[in-house]
Amino acid sequence: MNWITDIAAKIKPKLDNLFKKKSIVPENLWTNCASCSTVIYREDIEKNLYCCTNCQEPQQILPRQRFEILFDEGKFEEIETPKLSSDPLNWSDITPYKDKVKSARKKFNQRHAALVATGSIKGLKSVVYCMNQKFLGGSVGIEEGEAFVFACKYAVEHNIPFIAFPQTGGQKMQHSAYALMQMPKSIIGLQMLEEKGIPAIIMASSPVAGGVTASWFYGPSVFVFAESELTKIMFAGPNVIKRTIGEDLPEGFQTAGYLLEKGFVDRIIHRKNHREELYNLLSILLNLKIEKAENIIDASDENTVSSQQTISA
Ligand SMILES: [Zn+2]
Repeated sequence: MNWITDIAAKIKPKLDNLFKKKSIVPENLWTNCASCSTVIYREDIEKNLYCCTNCQEPQQILPRQRFEILFDEGKFEEIETPKLSSDPLNWSDITPYKDKVKSARKKFNQRHAALVATGSIKGLKSVVYCMNQKFLGGSVGIEEGEAFVFACKYAVEHNIPFIAFPQTGGQKMQHSAYALMQMPKSIIGLQMLEEKGIPAIIMASSPVAGGVTASWFYGPSVFVFAESELTKIMFAGPNVIKRTIGEDLPEGFQTAGYLLEKGFVDRIIHRKNHREELYNLLSILLNLKIEKAENIIDASDENTVSSQQTISA
């Protein structure tokens, strides 16, 4: 009876395919709000700048989506950042780290967890460093750190404002001390902006954690904003802290709203107001910079006149 079994084995998959009900609804048409769990039509959430249509909470987005909704007419230019080693320690746990990087690169079409782009916000040209937490936790290693400094240098060279959107679990464990070195390095990047009087804005999007919170998030002369009161900003996670101190944590602990009350966040700017408010702030800061430069010139003119008067007297 082997011939009957063979024929049945060949025919069965074809019969299964014939009678299988094919879904006429494409996948990923719907999504859930991470905050209120409302099921939302994906097209509606995209039109709402990737904010929930029910509770208006901003949802996590990828860097290119961020650039599209931030810059004029959704136009931006990605800037290639220095290519360095993605696995300097040849790390391997369950799978080699090289393989994880390779897979993430393919999935997100980006080399590392951060993208840098330039574009205009209501006509004001800016350079933006934007992170992707879905790319291996958005962890900061050699390339992400170098890209940060690269973006700062770009802002200095082109004399344009710098904006960063952190979204990260912190420094990359697989890069060990190399990852920790990125923390002071990024501060030097911000110092370059400070020395030239170039505005630097940090806009937190959930989550911001670990080494980024401990370094450039609160770097020199930066404005610290968050796109929602619920944006998570922390160094260590709540469970670690709770176990360490053995006490319950206050309500809203490690949210941007709580940190705003305590003075650790300057302002909450909802994603829908980013273009308007960033433009207003940058316009004021850039005008101040021009006025300051003019005042310096005026003051030097007065000094020249007074020194001439002294000579003639
Ligand atoms: Zn919602």
